Amino acid sequence: MGEKDRIYKSLVDIIGKDFVSNRQEELYIYSRDPGASKSRSVDYVVMPKTVKEVQRIVKLANEEKIPITPMGGGFTLSALVVPVHGGIVLDMKRMDKIIEVNEKSRYALIEAGVSEGALLVYLEKNYPDLQHSVPEAPPTVTVVGNALIHGHGHISPRYGINSEMVNGMEVVLPTGEICKIGSSSLSPYWFTRGPLPDLPGLFLGWFGTTGIVTKLSIKLFPKAKYRDALAFSTDNIDLISNVIFKVTQIDLAEDFFLIAQEKPDWMNHVFFIIIVSGEFEEELELKKELYKKIFQKYKGGKEIKLVEEIHPALRKRFLDVPPFAAVAADFRKGGGFEYTGAILPIDKVPEAWRRGIEIAHNYGMTYSYVHQILGGHSIMFGFNYSFNRADEEDAERVRSAIDDSNKVTLDLGGMVWKAELGGQKLMLEKMDPNTLDLIKRIKKLLDPNGIMNPGNWGD
Ligand SMILES: Cc1cc2nc3c(=O)[nH]c(=O)nc-3n(C[C@H](O)[C@H](O)[C@H](O)COP(=O)(O)OP(=O)(O)OC[C@H]3O[C@@H](n4cnc5c(N)ncnc54)[C@H](O)[C@@H]3O)c2cc1C
Repeated sequence: MGEKDRIYKSLVDIIGKDFVSNRQEELYIYSRDPGASKSRSVDYVVMPKTVKEVQRIVKLANEEKIPITPMGGGFTLSALVVPVHGGIVLDMKRMDKIIEVNEKSRYALIEAGVSEGALLVYLEKNYPDLQHSVPEAPPTVTVVGNALIHGHGHISPRYGINSEMVNGMEVVLPTGEICKIGSSSLSPYWFTRGPLPDLPGLFLGWFGTTGIVTKLSIKLFPKAKYRDALAFSTDNIDLISNVIFKVTQIDLAEDFFLIAQEKPDWMNHVFFIIIVSGEFEEELELKKELYKKIFQKYKGGKEIKLVEEIHPALRKRFLDVPPFAAVAADFRKGGGFEYTGAILPIDKVPEAWRRGIEIAHNYGMTYSYVHQILGGHSIMFGFNYSFNRADEEDAERVRSAIDDSNKVTLDLGGMVWKAELGGQKLMLEKMDPNTLDLIKRIKKLLDPNGIMNPGNWGD
């Protein structure tokens, strides 16, 4: 029996033949993601159901020295779950239990495969006064995958990015031990990560290179009864940083984002979108009035205008959780969409805005922006590009545009969020050498055989 057959058989012994595959037609799906990155090869896909199975797969991978790439929904668009060096893709979707919701301490304990959509529906049905922070991504993406990449959701401008909402985790370490992180390491309650050494950071932002998260406790937040959207528009790009400062000076918005796109013409302006919510109608009205008052300060409402009537389709897109973003993104009708999320200092937004338009035009594209304000301290500035998946030249153009956007991001003092391999490389090259060395030492300590998603964050 060849080595590949032997490993396949060992995987079947661990989780049964229905949940292991080495068939080309199934590996094909896992060898690419919806973004513009080139495909890469995968040797096996496994779908574990229990932590014990995950542990046994990790043990096998250590013995055989083969890579494991953990996967949630696989929707980062930057091919983070497409193995760089082949091996096993560990698709977590069957670990899909919502284990517990603690209403009073406001958290949900879930398994790694629970999708954003599943938690959303579960809370709507059973805990209508609670919500979690939902990204604009398709509802099949996982809560865990999103938190692990420092994702952000519809209440992040109010409460912080989603990785900050992690109370604790259960992790299978690359060496096979099951480890609890946060209050659950000494209490039956998964209600906080401190006051302890802050270990979640060993797994957040590491792209699955330091362990496999099997359970996670995520904070829940009050869900208000009433919500509405306000839109203001201007053509003065230089006002943006000041507006962000003023709007976040009062802490009343649930969501705050900027949108603009070149076509149709009426969208070719800077739009500030503020989502307000309230437990009482009076509360909602008061919040709306206060935000209108802020914008009135810009030359009595002449410099930045209130959009009196938001088109019903746009209002729906603004208020839906999650919005049907994928459709809006498919400008080229070829199904391909990718964006580099630049995490930028607020004062760099006008320059990024102009340089992003230049990049889009250089590649013969129209520009399209959706940027979310992250708590008034930074912005997720989306350089968005759509392409025709059937056209390799078009995909190559997008890869180059992403590379240019990443360079602009770093040039402006920002960082590339959920970076694809090229973006990771640019950041590692720029990073303080002692920090880089610390990262390497932590990685070596946790994953001595280098089996966890190798190739990401360097080898
Ligand atoms: C149209 C569109 C809009 C989007 N809008 C947003 C948005 O508003 N906000 C936002 O944050 N994101 C957004 N995204 C990006 C992305 O889809 C989301 O962040 C998504 O939540 C990522 O989750 P996932 O389950 O797909 O992660 P995956 O791609 O499966 O995984 C992400 C990373 O985490 C690792 N990983 C996954 N599960 C585990 C585990 N159990 N243990 C260890 N490592 C693991 C993977 O190896 C990978 O490195 C958008 C994407 C699209 C396509």
